[in-house]
Amino acid sequence: MFEILAQCAHVAVPEPSEEAVRFYQSGNVLWIVQQAWSLIIPLLFLMKGFTGKLGSIAKSWGRNWFFTIAVYIVLFVAIYQILNLPLDFYSSYIRMHDYGLSNQSLERWFSNYGKGTLVFLIGMVAFLWIFYLLLKKSPKRWWFYSGLVGTALSFFMMFIQPIWIDPLFNKFGPMKDKELEQQILQLASRAGIEQGRVFEVDKSEDTSMLNAYVIGFGKTNRIVLWDTLIQQMTPDQILFVMGHEMGHYVLHHIWWSLLYYALLSFVIFYLTYRSAHFLLNKYRDRFGFHDLSQIASLPLLLLLIGVYSLLTEPLSNFVSRTMEHEADRFGLEIAQNNEAAGEAFIALQQKNLAVPRPGPIYVFWRASHPPLGERVDFTNSYCPWTEGKPLKYESHFSQ
Ligand SMILES: [Zn+2]
Repeated sequence: MFEILAQCAHVAVPEPSEEAVRFYQSGNVLWIVQQAWSLIIPLLFLMKGFTGKLGSIAKSWGRNWFFTIAVYIVLFVAIYQILNLPLDFYSSYIRMHDYGLSNQSLERWFSNYGKGTLVFLIGMVAFLWIFYLLLKKSPKRWWFYSGLVGTALSFFMMFIQPIWIDPLFNKFGPMKDKELEQQILQLASRAGIEQGRVFEVDKSEDTSMLNAYVIGFGKTNRIVLWDTLIQQMTPDQILFVMGHEMGHYVLHHIWWSLLYYALLSFVIFYLTYRSAHFLLNKYRDRFGFHDLSQIASLPLLLLLIGVYSLLTEPLSNFVSRTMEHEADRFGLEIAQNNEAAGEAFIALQQKNLAVPRPGPIYVFWRASHPPLGERVDFTNSYCPWTEGKPLKYESHFSQ
């Protein structure tokens, strides 16, 4: 059956290395620990009324409504980040070095952690009060208004992230390889993408893994290539990866995923509203606060939002995998080089220590992309242009 399907290219999927299998298995254990820890942290704040005590301190220091919230957030974020530090350090520094996936210096890791904490803190102080105002003013409808505000905020964050946040951590600029850039811009103009939308980022400072992505909204919408990918892939492979990213761009996948998360946020806020009231009625004395509109309720809200996000993760992954598959199709149709596409996936498998055919539970709970093995199978079998059949995305190509 494989022979019949493999009509467009004959790229074989290699068995994962022993190291890749270990990386996958230990990664699954780590993921479970991380998920559990992310729920345990807010639980710790709720135990023995600790959050209530923090709330009282915040009130005596902050005095008025806004500064009470601000002081609480500062205390909360400080404790939260300290509790997160060991696991974050292990997963993104020690483990990555152990597997030879990173050359990042210790100073750089801590500097990024510090900057990340600061951005998190500023974001929380700048926006969280809006939700608490809604909780206070509209105890029965706050979940709906929070969905609206959350949606507006996520569009705003998507807009500013590539111009204000990401450059704090890495250098973004035009592509350094001008010949390759010309080829990419040619492909981009075929997809109707205007100039100035392709960026290169110096991720080699942080990792040896390969990646490319689309980010931003409206004016800031752009395609970003990691320099590691440019260094490790052949020009033909890079052109396919760009074709895939152009698919995300042209098919407005950022817009669709923001829309998806907007709808999801209404559901999650509603479930949080229902269960928060239920839990508060039951455990009021233990939590140390009596009303959700008090800032001390933050750990409870975060805990519930965390639980519902985790439970809806399979659906979110499914939505993401569907878009990724269509971006693959777009990339194949515009670049029309299935061999290079298959090889690009093999390069991703090898450089990122990926397992090409992970188990179904992994795919269900964790995979935002189709397994690389399936993506190679698809490139081996999808080439309607060779038989003169119509292309799905032909209408997006200019020539
Ligand atoms: Zn993609």
